[in-house]
Amino acid sequence: MVEIAKAPEGFEGPGFFATSLDKVVGMARKNSLWPLPFATSCCGIEFMATMGAHYDLARFGSERLSFSPRQADLLMVMGTIAKKMGPVLRQVYEQMAEPRWVLSVGACASSGGIFDTYSVLQGIDRIIPVDVYVPGCPPRPEQILDGVIKIQELVQNESLRRRDSAEYKAMLATYGIE
Ligand code: SF4
Repeated sequence: MVEIAKAPEGFEGPGFFATSLDKVVGMARKNSLWPLPFATSCCGIEFMATMGAHYDLARFGSERLSFSPRQADLLMVMGTIAKKMGPVLRQVYEQMAEPRWVLSVGACASSGGIFDTYSVLQGIDRIIPVDVYVPGCPPRPEQILDGVIKIQELVQNESLRRRDSAEYKAMLATYGIE
């Protein structure tokens, strides 16, 4: 049986529970991520399974997929990214509003995978910052869900000031993004 610990005296009462703004916003963001699936090849099929009834990404509040970057806050990159596709991926990332997160799914998106060749980007982190990497070729839906849960942990614990910090801006500047 699970017991819920009592809140300290003065922080709880009928109709209210005191907390900090950071925690409430983090909790709301964590449970309402809107993914933009950028799927180019086989890993995308695993994502389709992840959205299906058996694995059901909707359980994590992420059933609302967006194919419009301006209405998405989680970019999920799945599949081989050719160098010609790089500028498109980057534009999609830049069009997303802050705060935004990036999940790199599978070996190809994370490192080029088996395609160590002139035409394939050897990891999307060469053009955009990545928050969580999911290994595998292809990763199973359980691994993709695990990646989403790792993103949720980051989202919940992120400070509201992070996106305005000098460190964050400096990190974006290393990618040439303002
Ligand atoms: S990592 Fe493997 S399964 Fe995923 S896109 Fe590349 S080749 Fe396909």
